[in-house]
Amino acid sequence: MNIAHWLYQTARARPRAAAVKLGGTLVCDYATLARRAQALSRQLGARGVGAGDRVALFAANCPEYLEIIHACWWLGATVVPINYKLHPREAAWIIEDCGARLVLTRAGEMNGAGLLPAGCEEIAIDSDLYRHAAAPGEDLSAPPALEAGAVAWLFYTSGTTGRPKGVMLSHGNLLAMAMAYTMDVDHIAPGDHSLYAAPMSHGAGLYALPFIRAGAAHVIPASGGFDPAEIIALAGELGGLCFFAAPTMIKRLVTAAKACGYRGEGIRTIVYGGGPMYGADINEALAQFGPRFVQIYGQGETPMTITALPRDLVADDSHPDWRARRDSVGFAQAPVEVRILADDGAPLPAGETGEIAVRGATVMLGYWNRPEATAETVVDGWLRTGDLGRLDADGFLTLTDRSKDVIISGGTNIYPREVEEALLLHPSVHEVSVIGTPDPEWGEIVVAFVVAAPGTACDQPTLDGWCRSHIAAFKRPKRYVFADALPKNSYGKVLKTELRQQLAPGR
Ligand code: ATP
Repeated sequence: MNIAHWLYQTARARPRAAAVKLGGTLVCDYATLARRAQALSRQLGARGVGAGDRVALFAANCPEYLEIIHACWWLGATVVPINYKLHPREAAWIIEDCGARLVLTRAGEMNGAGLLPAGCEEIAIDSDLYRHAAAPGEDLSAPPALEAGAVAWLFYTSGTTGRPKGVMLSHGNLLAMAMAYTMDVDHIAPGDHSLYAAPMSHGAGLYALPFIRAGAAHVIPASGGFDPAEIIALAGELGGLCFFAAPTMIKRLVTAAKACGYRGEGIRTIVYGGGPMYGADINEALAQFGPRFVQIYGQGETPMTITALPRDLVADDSHPDWRARRDSVGFAQAPVEVRILADDGAPLPAGETGEIAVRGATVMLGYWNRPEATAETVVDGWLRTGDLGRLDADGFLTLTDRSKDVIISGGTNIYPREVEEALLLHPSVHEVSVIGTPDPEWGEIVVAFVVAAPGTACDQPTLDGWCRSHIAAFKRPKRYVFADALPKNSYGKVLKTELRQQLAPGR
């Protein structure tokens, strides 16, 4: 098999269908996209790239993104997508770690800074060399068949839990992920537009695959990323917009929509996940946009596919257990099974909290060159997610927190998400992140980092009083840090490691 086969097939079945748009402007149809990918693959081959070699792609979302990743697959090479927000030095570390033979960048920034490891060549996407390489030829032949276990995507974790590790995903993993999208997340219609508001180097980029299979169009925002005003304009212009958004992005979109009276027309589906979406925030989003939301829970190690909460369950409040279900992350997606494990690795019954483990067709092959880390993470085929949660009798999964974020104060476990959710209900709290910090008396104490809502003032006594009336006294933050903003990664996810370091440098 070869996941690039979908592009080949769609190019033959729907050659004139719009494939890529930059903003509202057509860039190419499916026949052209496939021919460009094939032409580029030949040039990469001529530069010595072969099956199994790694080709890094260090670029923001751009119209060339899909042709580049397909060119690699057309050769049987592995794509190493690198988050463009990383510093070139960090990108160089990844390039060296995976032994990439070639890196494609926007404008030659690696060589320019003298950062490329020996044996790695750079091609700038805005160079003549690239343009010549990707000039569409006339012929189109099928991509070569590969083993289902051939590595297609070597994705480096963002490092919120330590040094980045390369997650090896096979063609078979990507196929299963794309099928899960069509089975459990959404039905794609040919007139739909898949918008890339989040970095394509992350799981959201892989969501292109089911849209390629359906022959729907891919829209690269002219801003290159997430711009609420642009999304609202594109929804009106194109219609059928489907995109992945992290919870913080949805919050910003809702704020922008409220300011201009926009109610979600032209948006078909917003898939959200990647971090907790608190009850108050999803309620606000539903009130503004209506039932256009599907929640997914996933990890780089099993991309976008652990559970899904379908749109009806996000929005439908007629079921007696609706609130509990809506606050869950839904049930296992088709290619995987989910279990809850006790500390000793034994499976726990419904209702009990433990570590979430996943087994199935989307679980990574392992970490690149890190057999020990792989052996610790995938045990007997079960991926240990590092997340804590519980299943109910119907298979709905509720996340409690990440195991490493749990605060143990005076011997009792405190889940930061619970404290964050309580604080977010206070009208003057705009954003909050709760962590534990070492304390000689309690082991750890609860600390809340708070960003006040514009035009309001928060202080410790007010928030402490609020917590007393919303959560158990022992869970209350003992300390508050008021900040203008919280440190976040490119997905808008709060970097708790940085907050911990602010309180206890060197930890
Ligand atoms: P790294 O692996 O580099 O430390 P990370 O843990 O943030 O980074 P990702 O794969 O980007 O890795 O994120 C996966 C994590 O995001 C999950 O393990 C879970 O903790 C959280 N997450 C994902 N989806 C949801 C969701 N729907 N609700 C709450 N949390 C979620």
